[in-house]
Amino acid sequence: MGRKKGSTARLFARYAVASLVPVLLLGLVLATSFRREANDRALAEAHTEAKLIAQTGIEPALSGSSLADGLSAHERAGLRRVVSEIIGRGDVIRLRVRDLEGRVVFSDDGSGFGAGPDDDALKAARGHARTLLTPLNSDGNDAGNTGTDTVEVYLPLAAGPDLHRVGVLEIYLPYDPINRDVASGLHRLYLELGVGLLVLYLGLFAITASVSGVLRREAALNAFLAEHDVLTELPNRSLFRRRAASAIAAAQRGEHPTAMAIVDLDRFKDVNDTLGHHSGDQLLTEIARRLAAHMRPGDTVARLGGDEFGLIIRALDDAEPVLWRLLEIIDREVEISGLPVSVQASIGFVSAPEDGTDVDELMQRADVAMYAAKAQHAGVTRYDSSLDHYDAASLALVSELRRGIDNDELVLHYQPQASPGDRTVRAIEALVRWQHPEHGFLMPDQFLPLAEQTDVIEKLTTWVVRSALAELKSFPHGQDDLRVAVNVSARTIGRPSFATEVIAILEELELPGTRLKIEVTETALMADPERAALVLSRLADAGVGISLDDFGRGQTSLGYLSALPLDELKIDRGFVTGMLDNPTHAAIVRSILELGHNLGLRVVAEGVETEAVLEHLIDVGCDVVQGFLLGRPMPSAALAAWMWDAQPSVTPGV
Ligand code: C2E
Ligand code: CA
Ligand code: CA
Repeated sequence: MGRKKGSTARLFARYAVASLVPVLLLGLVLATSFRREANDRALAEAHTEAKLIAQTGIEPALSGSSLADGLSAHERAGLRRVVSEIIGRGDVIRLRVRDLEGRVVFSDDGSGFGAGPDDDALKAARGHARTLLTPLNSDGNDAGNTGTDTVEVYLPLAAGPDLHRVGVLEIYLPYDPINRDVASGLHRLYLELGVGLLVLYLGLFAITASVSGVLRREAALNAFLAEHDVLTELPNRSLFRRRAASAIAAAQRGEHPTAMAIVDLDRFKDVNDTLGHHSGDQLLTEIARRLAAHMRPGDTVARLGGDEFGLIIRALDDAEPVLWRLLEIIDREVEISGLPVSVQASIGFVSAPEDGTDVDELMQRADVAMYAAKAQHAGVTRYDSSLDHYDAASLALVSELRRGIDNDELVLHYQPQASPGDRTVRAIEALVRWQHPEHGFLMPDQFLPLAEQTDVIEKLTTWVVRSALAELKSFPHGQDDLRVAVNVSARTIGRPSFATEVIAILEELELPGTRLKIEVTETALMADPERAALVLSRLADAGVGISLDDFGRGQTSLGYLSALPLDELKIDRGFVTGMLDNPTHAAIVRSILELGHNLGLRVVAEGVETEAVLEHLIDVGCDVVQGFLLGRPMPSAALAAWMWDAQPSVTPGV
């Protein structure tokens, strides 16, 4: 504030000086020209006065005969009379009469006789009057004290009845009275000029100041807009970064740690989509207001973009309680267009200098923590290097997955599972792929691991179950007992409504549960064993087969296994593919077969890539094989054609 005041005063002074300079220059030019004009007028007046003296006093005293011969006594007496009168009045300082050669023939004070002719006098003799302002006795041919300013006039003199030129009048008039006259006129003029210039100056100054005021306000507005968000008026990303940098620097100087948090609204897009952008804007404005109202002075709330806010909380050892409180404040209902709306948010945060000292790195880490908070519905999460797999790009992909499912961008490929001896296809495993509009054809490992952290996996699983069953139904005749296997992840298998949902789909498509097989991994089951067991038994009751996928990788207790309604164990392909070169793997495959058979389960070996492995699996009594040797995962049409080739009993089409 103080700085602002100081700079305004400086600016003001600068405008004042800047507009004063041209006004002063103008004043100087005008004053000089006034002065010159006044002088000229004064000289003209002096000239007139001299002329009057010549015409009324001097010329009548002359007879008209040549002055070169000297004055007659009569003439001299006449001149003396006239001159003593005017000199006595003080109107004239000195008066001389010269002949046409410029020689002095009369001088009131006796000066000038015998001196050479004067240039000005000679000019006057030729008819050119001269008026000059000089100090007295400054002429080369004059002696005596110089000093007093006088007006020196040279006038041709005419006399005689025909008024012919007879000589020259040289007359010195006192300058003082003329000057006083001129000066008093000038004073008034200067006063008027001064007032005029002052008015001009004030006008100019007012204009400059107001124009610059407008410019300054505009510049200030532009500066504000460059660093603030228009909707919420909060600082924008660039100001946030600047403030973060200085807060981090302070934290590094050992003052106090600084927390930097990223707040992202959950499902804000839904509000925008269902209530419209205007409502979305209202919601953002309200949340911005709440956040700003609950921060301490000196802390920063910024809008980083979309539904993302950034916080800088300085000098705080533990920011987590504060952030939980903010989360609660965001959570409170907002009334928008008469509707109560509530949004949740996820907050990720870092603490500087502990989590880093570079703004970009810290922002990226806070972002990672925020994504992790979102994925795990954790509310507030502090960054930790173990969260690094939540990188923003793949998370953005996950959020696109929801849209991708609705837009039919997902496709299922099917891989056959067959009896090892005659290679009859017993089942097909549905494996999902994503034909992404920008990133191309994506394999499950590129989007599933993260999708599994969010509820989008539910939507995906439902889509897979429905699509796989629908495609199975449209499969070639003669395949009425073909089963489709669908992979189900931990999150889904722990959700009781999943069983209900699957059963509803089966009913809707008029397919018996026996046409479906659920593949679930040991690890998925272990996440919530009781609930998983419940869901599995409901599915098993409906005839759905249950297969334990990637078996051998986890540490399932045998007691637990026997309590589950399983049909099948799938030996993890890590043990199968290279089993012939790895005796341990071969031993594991044998024990799983033994264990499975003891429990009355079918055992499937996946990852069969060579004839040698297939032969070996037949030898050890494996029930079903799956792998590139038999067939790679392929689109349903390709699978139908493949089955037609490989299994002549199948009729393609319909
Ligand atoms: P998984 O359930 O173990 O699926 C088998 C994977 O092994 C498939 O990879 C398949 O292409 C590959 N595979 C099959 N035979 C061979 C072989 O002979 N050699 C080798 N090296 N690999 C073979 P894919 O399709 O990339 O799927 C990877 C994983 O993605 C699956 O592993 C499964 O865990 C998951 N997944 C695929 N689709 C879905 C789905 O619809 N839902 C869920 N929840 N998970 C899915
Ligand atoms: Ca599988
Ligand atoms: Ca597997």
